[in-house]
Amino acid sequence: MNVLFIIKILLFNNLNNSGSIEALVPRSLFAVKDTINLKVNSEGFAPVLVNWEKGIVSEIIPIKKDYLKIKKILFPRFVEPHSHFDKSFSWLSFPNLKSNYENALSVNIEEHITRTAGKVINRAEKSLNFALENGYRAIRSHVDTYNLQDKTIWPELFELRQKYLSLISLQYVALAPLEFWSSKDGEKLAKNLKKSGDIIGGVVVPPFNKQKHDYLLSNMILLASKYNLEIDLHIDESSQFPGAGIKLLLRTIKKLKCNVSITCSHLSSISLLKSRDIAILSKQLVENNIKVVALPLTNFWLLNHDKNVLPIVRPVAPIKQLQNFFVDVSVGSDNVQDPWYPFGNFDPFYLMALAIPMLQINPWDRLSISALLTAPSRLLNLSWDGIIRGGCPADFVILDGTSWADIISGNVKKEVLIKGKIYKK
Ligand SMILES: [Zn+2]
Repeated sequence: MNVLFIIKILLFNNLNNSGSIEALVPRSLFAVKDTINLKVNSEGFAPVLVNWEKGIVSEIIPIKKDYLKIKKILFPRFVEPHSHFDKSFSWLSFPNLKSNYENALSVNIEEHITRTAGKVINRAEKSLNFALENGYRAIRSHVDTYNLQDKTIWPELFELRQKYLSLISLQYVALAPLEFWSSKDGEKLAKNLKKSGDIIGGVVVPPFNKQKHDYLLSNMILLASKYNLEIDLHIDESSQFPGAGIKLLLRTIKKLKCNVSITCSHLSSISLLKSRDIAILSKQLVENNIKVVALPLTNFWLLNHDKNVLPIVRPVAPIKQLQNFFVDVSVGSDNVQDPWYPFGNFDPFYLMALAIPMLQINPWDRLSISALLTAPSRLLNLSWDGIIRGGCPADFVILDGTSWADIISGNVKKEVLIKGKIYKK
């Protein structure tokens, strides 16, 4: 960031979080009345002047002259649709050196035994500080929940949300074994989550007993329906039995005729199905208003991991086929420095740098931008959809750069603005 720019923002900031910047903005991320004078370059960026007053965007004006001199790129602050900040940064104490799914689960269980509310809150705060600095405005985090010791964690998590309320929105998913949601403790927690506006979650990964899982999923969906709760499932995070979990879920929903809002996280193994079968499933997902979160980082790291062989088959939610049938797909980070994934740091630019080439999604395409920015806002049901327009919060991430190569260079210089003011720790 050059000195003049800093002075400009700081100067305006003294006047009630007001300011102005000339920047390149992805065309699908802002709304403007004057489209006649709008220029869009080959990578989908449009040069605009963004003005904000008292922390709220007041005006967006297309820039006609000298736009090649603009060396800033502006994004709305990001939304993380799927994380696990209850276990983040536990890798060094609980490494999964085999780097496969089975061992991740067993090390996760070892870690869980040692949990205290204090440890979880420390990890969560460390995660939030990274997330704020790196440009997130909202995070959905799953929280392992399966026994008495977890009861003490929930009140502290609710307090944590209040503490950070002015800076970042937090949404929790109680990630429990399916059996938990058929128990009295499960119903009690469901009631509390209804009050707090949070979500119930579970894991449906084959091989499983179909009859038992049908019964348990039915109970979970009925519980969600009773308390008007959303569900977010880790489902088909596997390289085997393609689509076994989602097929069971769809059958269960059909049988119950309940209208519960469901997110399917991972859905990796359906990429192994034939195109025709993916098309059929996609239509059913849309009919049932089921949203999908693709999590390429953990999938590429854990699934089919082999010490001696680089696998050609790397299952991850088939984002393009799903989007072609109008399924709302978000791309998320999943784990950060824990037994499931040893890297990451709650940074949307780290996610984009890896996910864009892994998924072969062109960042200049509207649908790719949707999966990375606006679909996560819809998933979390946030009051702002992430499109920059008059009246929205001046919540931005402003980078030095002129191209997508700069954005995903791994060495991006950025400033985060929250309600028109530069964020400092
Ligand atoms: Zn996860």
